[in-house]
Parts: sequence; C-alpha cells; structure tokens
Amino acid sequence: MIKVAISGVSGRMGREVLKTVLQTEDTELCAAVDIQGAGQDAGLLIGSEQVGINIATNLKEALTISGAEVLVDFTGPRSVLNNVKTALEVGARPVVGTTGLSREDIEAIAALAGQKRVGCIIAPNFAIGALLMIKFASEAAKYFPNVEIIEKHHDQKLDAPSGTAIKTAEAVIEHRGDYEQGLALEEEKIPCSRGGKMPGGIRIHSVRLPGFVAQQEVIFGGAGQTLTIKHDSISRESFMPGVITAIRAVMRLEGVVYGLENLIFE
Ligand code: NAD
Repeated sequence: MIKVAISGVSGRMGREVLKTVLQTEDTELCAAVDIQGAGQDAGLLIGSEQVGINIATNLKEALTISGAEVLVDFTGPRSVLNNVKTALEVGARPVVGTTGLSREDIEAIAALAGQKRVGCIIAPNFAIGALLMIKFASEAAKYFPNVEIIEKHHDQKLDAPSGTAIKTAEAVIEHRGDYEQGLALEEEKIPCSRGGKMPGGIRIHSVRLPGFVAQQEVIFGGAGQTLTIKHDSISRESFMPGVITAIRAVMRLEGVVYGLENLIFE
C-alpha cells in the first residue's frame, strides 16, 4: 500500500483524488490537508462514511505524523511551490497537478529533489487524451509552422494561460523551432485581442466561462487548409487514471519528471 497525502483535498480536484485514492487497491489515504473544512473527517467531502482522517491545515506536520510516502497537490499557484518544497524536505514524493509553476520554480524543485534524492512528478495535465493532443500537435508542427492555441476553462481558474497550453506550445516549439508567424504590421485595437505570445512565437487565447472543465484546440493553418487537434475533459474523472499512474511511478523515481507523457509514451 502506498501512503498518500492530499493537499487541496476540499477542492474540486482534491475531492476527486480523495475518492480515487480510497477506491484504488494499492493506495491508502494517510493525510488530508486544506485551509477549508479544517478538523472535519475527509469522508464528509465526498458524502461517504467517515474515513478516520481529519482535514489538517499544517502540511509539514500532517506529512511527518502520517509518514506519507506521496503528496498529491491540487491547491493553487500561490501555495504549490511551498507545498512541494515542504514535501521534499520531509521525504514525501510530490505528485503535482497544480498549474502555474514558472520555469524557475520547476528548476528550483528539480534542484531540491536532486539534492534530497526524492522523486517528483509535475504534470500540467493528467488526462491521456490531452497528452495525445500534445503529442499529435508536436508531430503536426513539423509540417504546419503556423499555429495558435485556444484553451477554455471554468471561470474559477486562477492562472492563465493554462499549464496544458504552455506545455503544448513548448512541445510545438521544440519540434518546429522559433518562428515569427502572422503579419508584423498588424495592430491590436483592443489590447491582447491577439492573445498572449509565448517565447518562440505561438499565441495562446484563454477563455474562462462557467460550464467548462478543461478544453483545448490546437489550430494549424497552411495554404488552403487548417488542421484542428481538440481535446475535451468533460469531467474530472478524466484525470484520475493519470494521477494513479503518477503515484505508482513516483515511488520508483529520483529527481523531477515534468509531464506525464515522459512516463507513458515510448
Ligand atoms: P479548487 O479551487 O477547487 O481547489 C483548490 C483547493 O486548494 C481549495 O480547497 C483550497 O482551499 C485549497 N488550498 C488553497 N491554498 C491552500 C494551501 N496553502 N494549503 C492547503 N490547501 C489550500 O481548484 P481545482 O479546480 O481543484 O484546481 C486545483 C489546481 O489543479 C489548479 O491549479 C488547476 O489548474 C489544477 N488542475 C490540474 C489538472 C491536471 O491534470 N494537472 C486538472 C485540473 C485542474
């Protein structure tokens, strides 16, 4: 049994992870952490019977007392870096679903994980369909250098663009190189109407509306044709097989893996 702690357990993703960890045969919930619902039994979050683990607010204490082997973090961009550092300091392996970490943050985590010789997985998207979308987009980029990304999420999401959109743009740029697409002389009548521009030249457009979970289109344009690669997460269940894969994989790792695709594709 792998002893799993969840931070952000009271949130949308945290509750889904809680259900999954309780239902999976080789994972065991050992701690539940959140700034909401402190003191109550975690089972109440998912309308189940009591699970005997109360929601704690002090992550370090919860990890240490419970002897957690893995910390699954689905909190927010303001707390994730500290949470990951805390886990690494006490020897719990982080599986990070929270998005919003910068390149510098990931480098700092990699340095600490290397120093502590502890595994860590940072995955901007755990859904297999989204990982395939990124893989197919990387392939298409070799033939279609002109590409823009539209990502759509629910309106409670704190960071923009999404971690998935950034990962997609990075993967496309790796395969196609830097490229100044579009018209140099174009003029935005409303600031940012052409989206945010990633280093390397890809524009990302972020839509935030109630009703969406997570959706992304990668649109390629060529002479007389377009190609759209699209993924929809219709429910948060879509992320759970990937989370369980990461929990199992992180037990065997040393250092940081950024992107679940690095573990599941040849
Ligand atoms: P949410 O707002 O529903 O939940 C976040 C939870 O974290 C809340 O319960 C909040 O109280 C808690 N929290 C905030 N700061 C905390 C702290 N310092 N300590 C403990 N708990 C804290 O958000 P959500 O929709 O569940 O999304 C969480 C994160 O997961 C976001 O960054 C989102 O982008 C990301 N996400 C990733 C994937 C993926 O596949 N990697 C999929 C969906 C969402």
